Amino acid sequence: MPKIEEYIPIVGQSVIDDLRLLSGRLKDKVVQHVNSTAVGGGVAEILSRMVPLLKDLGVDTRWDLIKGGEDFFEVTKKFHNVLHGRQDELTQRDFDVFMATSQKNIDEVNIYGDIVFIHDPQPIALIKKKSQNKWAWRCHIDVSNPNQKVWDFLMQFIPNYDAAVFSAPGFSQRLSIRQFLIAPSIDPLSDKNRELPEEEINAVLAKYGIKKDKPIITQISRFDRLKDPLGVIEAYLRVKEHVDCQLILAGGGASDDPEGVQVYEEVKEKAKLDKDIHILLLPQNDLEVNALQTASTVIIQKSIREGFGLTVAEALWKAKPVVASNVGGIPLQITHKYSGLLCHSIEGAAFAIKQLLNSPDYAKKLGQNGREHIRNNFLLTRHLREYLLLFLSMYHPEDLVYL
Ligand code: UDP
Repeated sequence: MPKIEEYIPIVGQSVIDDLRLLSGRLKDKVVQHVNSTAVGGGVAEILSRMVPLLKDLGVDTRWDLIKGGEDFFEVTKKFHNVLHGRQDELTQRDFDVFMATSQKNIDEVNIYGDIVFIHDPQPIALIKKKSQNKWAWRCHIDVSNPNQKVWDFLMQFIPNYDAAVFSAPGFSQRLSIRQFLIAPSIDPLSDKNRELPEEEINAVLAKYGIKKDKPIITQISRFDRLKDPLGVIEAYLRVKEHVDCQLILAGGGASDDPEGVQVYEEVKEKAKLDKDIHILLLPQNDLEVNALQTASTVIIQKSIREGFGLTVAEALWKAKPVVASNVGGIPLQITHKYSGLLCHSIEGAAFAIKQLLNSPDYAKKLGQNGREHIRNNFLLTRHLREYLLLFLSMYHPEDLVYL
């Protein structure tokens, strides 16, 4: 893991000085993050970079996981989907399963933080353990149009927190507690985002039998219906009628996402329609994700709903032209026709991809603009600064804090 000074060449000395100043005021505090998976998905991705850097800054930061069986994670995946606006039926049994596992975690998870930072709905009920310490609930989901039944259920817990954190302005809710808007971030020095030598990229392509003989269109995502992998294939097939190219759909699973296997099977089946579609089941390996993104001509992120979409930031940081749906946190990252192309449909995605494949100079310019936008707004150092300010503000509830 890099040291905080190593970020100076990327973001400048003053940003790091600020971080030192703020973290110095939290030296006697323990920050405890809790979520439901150590690998897979954006939350684990961010915590794996954030926690060591906070420690390097001298803030005693730990990361704990709740435990749950398949029945619990099936329910929380359902919660996730319907909070994102997907239709599904919730039964009393679902809520009972959620509460039974939550009670077990309330009994078993050790809470020792001065500041307890709970990520997403899965561990939300731990707030029942609140004592004199400070608690924040960090929602990574696009809850701009949530299923009311599940939101009402979560509202038995949320007002007991000291603060709620959302990723985008459109996600904020009517709450009696303080709300903060803090966008996620990527780490420019991680194996996923650092510049790779050509040989390493080629070795990964060779491992998966991918040749560089035609343009590569790639979506990296968990196999999740909300990432619309079947829609990506549809869009690709339309592009392919006009431009010879290949498609990579690559993703692994997450231990709190039991739906992945079934979606993967459906995608595999549909991929039989074209010999240039590569469906890759990835191990948890940042270098491989990096290599595939870097080797791509165009990156697509055709999500139907998206909390933030770290994969978009990762691609833009690599100065790639990106075609992505205009949902969730994606428009924070892409200004249409400036730092990428936004789409609203399969046809729109296909049209945008074709345009980028046919206009390499335009594609290059979008990618360059995208990289600078990420540098200015979505790197880990900005995120660290805002978390430190959030932590400090929790000890000064009467003051207004502008992040
Ligand atoms: N990711 C990965 N391997 C995979 C699929 C995804 O490392 O096989 C990473 C991806 O690079 C990104 C994160 O998981 O850093 C996904 O975050 P995002 O916000 O895009 O979506 P989420 O999965 O949280 O809905």
